[in-house]
Amino acid sequence: MKLYCAMCGRTMFSAAVYIGNEAIGPTCARKHKLMELARIGVGSVKMAPARKKPGRNGDTLDMFEELDQE
Ligand SMILES: [Zn+2]
Repeated sequence: MKLYCAMCGRTMFSAAVYIGNEAIGPTCARKHKLMELARIGVGSVKMAPARKKPGRNGDTLDMFEELDQE
């Protein structure tokens, strides 16, 4: 599945930021200072989750680690 930048429509490997559900590539994010906005938390601008190792799919279960409640 290809990822397209919502601003310029180009394909990209990974999004840099998200505006709502729209993925924005690193180039546009830099151009429009979206990283800064994401960092301060303006509107619905969010940093994209960092990818640890490219090409690694599958067992990504460590998101849910709040299970030791009594
Ligand atoms: Zn773009």
